[in-house]
Amino acid sequence: MDGIDGGVAIVTGGAAGIGRATARRFAAEGASVVVADIDADGLTGTVDLIDADGGEAVAVETDVSDADDVAALVEETVDTYGVPDFAFNNAGVEGSSERLTDQSLDDWKRVIEVNQTGVWNCLTEELAVMADNGGGAIVNTSSIAGLSAAGGAPYVASKHGIVGLTRIAAAEYGPVGVRVNAVCPGVIDTDMIDRASEGRGGQNIDRVVQAKPLRRMGEPEEVAAAAVWLCSDDSSFVTGHPLVVDGGYMA
Ligand code: NAD
Repeated sequence: MDGIDGGVAIVTGGAAGIGRATARRFAAEGASVVVADIDADGLTGTVDLIDADGGEAVAVETDVSDADDVAALVEETVDTYGVPDFAFNNAGVEGSSERLTDQSLDDWKRVIEVNQTGVWNCLTEELAVMADNGGGAIVNTSSIAGLSAAGGAPYVASKHGIVGLTRIAAAEYGPVGVRVNAVCPGVIDTDMIDRASEGRGGQNIDRVVQAKPLRRMGEPEEVAAAAVWLCSDDSSFVTGHPLVVDGGYMA
């Protein structure tokens, strides 16, 4: 993909699943990658995989819900590789799938703090340095739950919020050369889906996707390809867009 080689990318939630696959894809395309997560062991695993592939990456333990942690992440990125050209704000938690009135206020706060405030914390730090540097490209991970009622209430609200943040950031920072988009994955085969499946009493999510057009779950690498494309010059006229990567789930 054009324009990734030689750039600097931040990937949050990079210790597993979609984030790990995207960190690896950025590195394979020639970017230096700063991989951030709360899971130290998973971070080491991602950096080891990138090393083994001959890529360049470092790990920074970061809780995206903590503004100071995110400020330190961006500072460390600038110190290590320079101002980031790309950011994939992807860390997230699923919350419970119970009905709205059965949800707890604590679960609401936790999901909003990680998913929505986490993206807010990343955007505020990344946009500032990218704008000063003359441009960049950011992708936030929303979900089909950011466009429909596909999940528990806190998760659906947080993912709709990410689409809103994506649109306002794109509108305000397009004039200074920063593009901001979102990916909206459908059901992707990661640990999150395993946990969500257990939370639904072991209901086989595979059966749900069998009723959808492509008849299968997506792979993390399929979301990674979309996220890196949205950061590349190949999508140079795309901004403010929530890109559905769902095997036709929403169709
Ligand atoms: P995952 O659980 O495999 O990965 C999520 C990662 O985020 C983990 O490594 C976890 O440690 C990290 N994380 C959690 N809280 C964090 C915090 N406070 N700070 C930093 N890192 C934190 O799940 P995944 O499926 O790869 O999910 C990645 C993103 O994709 C999430 O935002 C999720 O909501 C979204 N998503 C996933 C699916 C799916 O079907 N898997 C569908 C739509 C959207």
